[in-house]
Amino acid sequence: MSEPIKLFQYNTLGALMAGLYGGSLTIGELLEHGDLGIGTLDSIDGELIILDGKAYQAKGSSGKPEVVEVSNDVMVPYAAVVPHQAEVIFKQRFEMSGNELEKRIESYYDGVNLFRSIKIKGHFSKMHVRMIPKSTPDTKFADVATRQPEYTREDVSGTIVGIWTPQMFHGVSVAGYHLHFISDDHSFGGHVMDYVITEGMIEVGPVDQLDQRFPVQDRQYLFAKFNMDELKKDIEKSE
Ligand SMILES: [Zn+2]
Repeated sequence: MSEPIKLFQYNTLGALMAGLYGGSLTIGELLEHGDLGIGTLDSIDGELIILDGKAYQAKGSSGKPEVVEVSNDVMVPYAAVVPHQAEVIFKQRFEMSGNELEKRIESYYDGVNLFRSIKIKGHFSKMHVRMIPKSTPDTKFADVATRQPEYTREDVSGTIVGIWTPQMFHGVSVAGYHLHFISDDHSFGGHVMDYVITEGMIEVGPVDQLDQRFPVQDRQYLFAKFNMDELKKDIEKSE
């Protein structure tokens, strides 16, 4: 039997929602665990995109979208990566909305109780993204989320990467799709809101295990008091 495929998740979405924005894992360490994934950076400074083993940061707070490659010593407060292995590959030959494509992707799932890695390389007639702006812990994530810059680009080629999470793991991460986009020319990217694909190749990968890591040295995490009702509401609002 081949090696089990592990989804490596650093910290939880709940901790991020509670204002724990400080990075405590390096990109270098993160990349040892996978070559495809998503996350955010220290002080929630934009969206992290892991594509083909390289890390990129998409930012939008300077009034225009920006994408930069991230070096190995940069810290992240929250990220999820997987050594992506395509199990289902199909070609999308005609225009479809993101919602329609997501239904099509789900039609290949064996049940709804396993995580999956998602990679969509193609051309998009519309791509609508947002980027969380750098913040300090005294501003709640749900409040930061209400004033995130959003950008739309038309006729753009690029790749969507991300994770699909089963409903029962909601809170650890976002149930359903959590997808980030990066254009082929690395000039545009972010957290995917909605899109229209014109054509592309879709890869769906299996996940056999969840490797959930905690920031065990981080006093803020260790002694944080989480308000679960509020957390649940904030996750609904923000994602
Ligand atoms: Zn995101």
